[in-house]
Amino acid sequence: MKRYGLFIGGEWLEASSGTTFDVLNPADRTVVGQAAAGNAADVNKAVDAAARAFPDWSKRTARERSGLLAKIYDGMMKRKEEIARLMTLEQGKPLGEARGEVQYAADFFQWYGEEAKRIYGETIPANSPDKRIWVLRQPVGVTAAITPWNFPAAMITRKVAPALAAGCTMVAKPAEQTPLTAALLAEIMQEAGLPPGVFNLVTGTQAEEIGDALLADSRVRKLTFTGSTEVGKTLMRKAADTVKRLSLELGGQAPYLVFADADLEQAAIEVTASKFRNAGQTCVCTNRVYVHHSIKEEFAAILARYAQELKVGNGLHEGVQIGPLIDEQALDKVESHVRDAVDQGARVLTGGRKLRPSEQETGCFYEPTVLLDTTEKMRVEQEETFGPVLPIHAFETEEEALALANNTPYGLAAYLYTRDLSRAVRVSERLEYGIVGVNDGMPSTAQAPFGGMKQSGLGREGGRQGIDEYLEVKYVSVGLK
Ligand code: NAP
Repeated sequence: MKRYGLFIGGEWLEASSGTTFDVLNPADRTVVGQAAAGNAADVNKAVDAAARAFPDWSKRTARERSGLLAKIYDGMMKRKEEIARLMTLEQGKPLGEARGEVQYAADFFQWYGEEAKRIYGETIPANSPDKRIWVLRQPVGVTAAITPWNFPAAMITRKVAPALAAGCTMVAKPAEQTPLTAALLAEIMQEAGLPPGVFNLVTGTQAEEIGDALLADSRVRKLTFTGSTEVGKTLMRKAADTVKRLSLELGGQAPYLVFADADLEQAAIEVTASKFRNAGQTCVCTNRVYVHHSIKEEFAAILARYAQELKVGNGLHEGVQIGPLIDEQALDKVESHVRDAVDQGARVLTGGRKLRPSEQETGCFYEPTVLLDTTEKMRVEQEETFGPVLPIHAFETEEEALALANNTPYGLAAYLYTRDLSRAVRVSERLEYGIVGVNDGMPSTAQAPFGGMKQSGLGREGGRQGIDEYLEVKYVSVGLK
C-alpha cells in the first residue's frame, strides 16, 4: 500500500489538517493507498515554496534545465512498470494502456528538455537609426495545474514539462481519484535532483477550496487546467479577479466520419481503438460515428464484432482490454445515455448492460456497446458519454456529414476515414476541431500541439506551441543617444 504526503518545498509533509484519504481501486473497490488531504493552508505553503524557488530556477541556463528534464525522463523510464501498475490500480485502465501512457507522459520531459534550448527572441527593425528593439520571451512565473483522473500521469507531465522548461515553477493538484501516480511522479522529480519548490503537489478532496486558494493568490500568474467544460468555465470566471493567464483543456465530443470508399476493416480497427481505449473515458474518444448510408450495415456489423471481442475486467488481469468506469456517477451517465437512445429508437447491436466479470470484480463495468441508427436528438450524440458506447448514424452527402460533425459546442478532436485524398484535405480543413485524425484514430503525441476550439478549451499542450503557454513576451526598446 502506498502512502504519500504533500510534496512542498522539496519535502514530504503531512497535510495541515493532519488527515489523509483512501484511494480505491475502481475494479474491486479495495483500498490501494492513502494520500494527504491538503487544504487552502497547504496551498499557501506550496505557493510560498514555488515563489521562493522561481528566481533561481528561472535564471538557470536552458542547458541546466534541459539536463534536469532529461533526468526526469530517465527516472520515469527506470520506474515505468511501477508507475504503470500504480496507475492501473488507482484508475483501472488495462496495464498495457498504462504502460503506453507512461511512455507518452515521459515523452513530454524529453521533448521539452530539448525545447528549453530553443526559447529564442527576436530583433525588430526600429523606425529610427538610433533605436533597437529586442523581443524577449521570459517565464510567466509561478503556475498552478489542476488535472483529471483519466490520464493520471500524462495530464500532469504535459503541463509540468513545458512549465519547467520555460523556467516556471508549479503547484499541481491532481484529481481526488488518482493522487498516487501524481505523487510517484513528484518522487521521481525529487530523485532527479529538481531543486526544492520548483514542483509542488497538493493532493486533497476539497477541490473547490484548493482551486479557490490557487486562483485568489496573485503570486500565481497562470492556471493550466484539464477537465470538464463545466469546471473549466467556473475556473475561468474565478481567474478573472486576478487576470490570470489560462490554458484550458476541456471536454470533447469527437465525431468519426467514415466515407463509402474506406477500407472498412482498417477503419473499424481505428474506430475501435479510438472509442474503447480507457473504457471510452478519454477527451478525444470517438463519441459518435457518421457512416455513409451505402456501407452502414456492413460497417456496423464489423464494429459490433470487434466490440464483442473486447475482454472486460480488472486491468491487471492478463488479456483485459477494457477496465472499469471510474465510479457510479460515470456508470449512471453511460446507462442513461443508452436508455435514452433505445427509447428513441436506436438498435443495440451488442452490449447495452452493466457487467460483473467475476465475484471479486465489483467495480462499475459496462459492456462495450454499439448502437445503430442514433439521431441528433439523442444524448449520445449531444453530450460526451465518457464510456464504452459507440453510436452509429448514417449520412448521405459529404456536406451533411460535415454539418453533423460540426453541430456541437465542442471542438477538440475529429476523425475521418477515406482513401480519397481530395476529400481528406477538404473535410479536414472544414472540421471545426483542434485535432483531426485522417485515417488515424490515435493522433496524440508529445511533438504535436494538442488542444481544442470552441468550448473544448484555450491554448495548446505539446509541440513547439506548448511552451508559449508558459512564456511572456516582452519587448525592450533601446535608445542609443
Ligand atoms: P472535472 O470534474 O472537471 O475535474 C478535473 C479536475 O478539476 C479534478 O482535479 C477536480 O478535482 C478538479 N475540480 C473539480 N471541481 C473543481 C472546482 N470547483 N475548483 C477547482 N478544481 C475543481 O473532470 P474529470 O471528471 O476529472 O475529467 C473528465 C473530463 O476531463 C472530461 O470532460 C474530459 O473530456 C476532460 N478531459 C479533457 C482533456 C483535454 O485535453 N481536453 C484531457 C483529459 C480529460 P477532484 O477530482 O478532487 O474533484
